[in-house]
Amino acid sequence: MKGKKSNVKINDPRWSKIRRLIAQNEGFTLVELLAVLVILGVLVGIAVPRVSATIQESRKKACEANLQLIERAIERYGMDHINPVTGQPDYSGLTEWSALIPGYFDMKNKKDDKEPLCPVSDNPYKLTPGANPAVSCSHETISNGE
Ligand SMILES: [Zn+2]
Repeated sequence: MKGKKSNVKINDPRWSKIRRLIAQNEGFTLVELLAVLVILGVLVGIAVPRVSATIQESRKKACEANLQLIERAIERYGMDHINPVTGQPDYSGLTEWSALIPGYFDMKNKKDDKEPLCPVSDNPYKLTPGANPAVSCSHETISNGE
């Protein structure tokens, strides 16, 4: 090798066993290869369920965050639509998602103005119109708390 000097001296007695093994040109035995494969299989068997559980948990948290965003959008809609007689929010115009999107609610990963989708199930969130509108998912239900 040019340029970079190694700290390992070839004549070091600690390398004698390795040099002897290399000179003998021994490979791994079938049992050694199988042992390595079994160990790798066990490690993969431990890691894959944990990773997939973490991904699922993060999707559930994203779903909960989406529900909270939609809840706040419903609250903002109510603040903008106060009934002048009662002084209370009038949600009568909030019958479908197009009343909220994009003026009050806009998800970054949404490509159109249709209903937002749950990241866990890819099913649309359910908007329940009425005097106390609510949004729900198969994971959690949040009303606007009025
Ligand atoms: Zn969900």
